[in-house]
Amino acid sequence: MDKKTNVKHIPYATQWIEDDDMQAVSETLKSDYLTTGPKINEFEQAFAQYVGARYAVAVSSGTAALHAACFAAGIKEGDEVITTPMTFAASANCIIYCGGRPVFADIDPHTYNIDPKEIEKHITPKTKAIIPVHFTGQPCDMDAINDIAKEHHLIVIEDAAHALGATYKSKKIGGISDMTCFSFHPVKHITTGEGGMITTDDENLYKKLIQFRNHGITRDREILEHDDGPWYYEQQFLGYNYRMTDIQAALGISQLKKIDRFLSRRREIADRYDKAFADMEWIITPYQIKEAQSAWHLYILQLKPEYLGMSRKKAYIALQQRGIGVNVHYIPVYYHPYYRRMGYRKGLCQNAENLYERIITIPLYPKMSDEDVEYVIDAVKGDI
Ligand SMILES: *Cc1c(COP(=O)(O)O)cnc(C)c1O
Repeated sequence: MDKKTNVKHIPYATQWIEDDDMQAVSETLKSDYLTTGPKINEFEQAFAQYVGARYAVAVSSGTAALHAACFAAGIKEGDEVITTPMTFAASANCIIYCGGRPVFADIDPHTYNIDPKEIEKHITPKTKAIIPVHFTGQPCDMDAINDIAKEHHLIVIEDAAHALGATYKSKKIGGISDMTCFSFHPVKHITTGEGGMITTDDENLYKKLIQFRNHGITRDREILEHDDGPWYYEQQFLGYNYRMTDIQAALGISQLKKIDRFLSRRREIADRYDKAFADMEWIITPYQIKEAQSAWHLYILQLKPEYLGMSRKKAYIALQQRGIGVNVHYIPVYYHPYYRRMGYRKGLCQNAENLYERIITIPLYPKMSDEDVEYVIDAVKGDI
């Protein structure tokens, strides 16, 4: 609280680091390994078990996870990959890293997630994969998406950067499709500073991912093309240094232990917002599908079209002036100049474009106090 102005400073999201997290990091700093030591394996195993996957591969960011997954899926020059425009740019950039072309399919105007019927419309002989994004933490219609993928022999890579702990038909996100990617950026559910994870049940994909995060290098005697001796290793394809450090993994292990507490606090705040805004005639609160439980990464208010005259921009600025970390998630990916230069144009995905005009993200994070939640509610009621 700023004493002079009575204005609070509430971010839209932030991490929650406690003494045991610091203890875990500090112990690793005193250990023999700062990177690629025992903490990486331990974090991967705990994570795989939590989401219900056979394998997990820790990498340096969520973006690296998406890049690695696109590589392992075999995306290359000339391939098309279908994704949503209502996401962070990384969900589409990872396709371009591999030489592929992102194809944007429109969203469902109720769930804001990619619409399976729109995916089908964009399938061509060049389509290789689908990257659904569980926007705000609410799972996409995965049965419909996986049916389409099966019929057209496409790989599914879930971008679950918003969805750690979410469930779809009582299965955790992370154990459903070919590969699922997570992010541990501080605004996400758990953090390692920067960090990411790919989960999969497929042993071949797992091996490729492991090799990709370390320059494409392997020491696995069984797959070496030559063997000059015990010192010998091979770089078999072009990989990257996408390794996570043991320091980060130690923090990840400690944070993962708290995921249920973090999730239930997120749900509690979302419920409070739902109730508080239910009677506001100019706001549409988030719509939840019955088959899934959201991980509530983001809470988004949508202004009803008939009230757009009040201006999203005015409301945004008013809330910002009260110290509330408002945001707009997201600017449709293909609006960015980089994408426009590649030939993408307005009008591609009408539902996503309409939604973009009307949305404001308000603060939601587990460490948020009840007092801060009420402050945000009062501000929204007064200013929107
Ligand atoms: C955060 C995020 C990413 C990227 O994760 P980083 O860890 O920041 O690289 C990718 N996709 C979505 C939808 C995200 O929100």
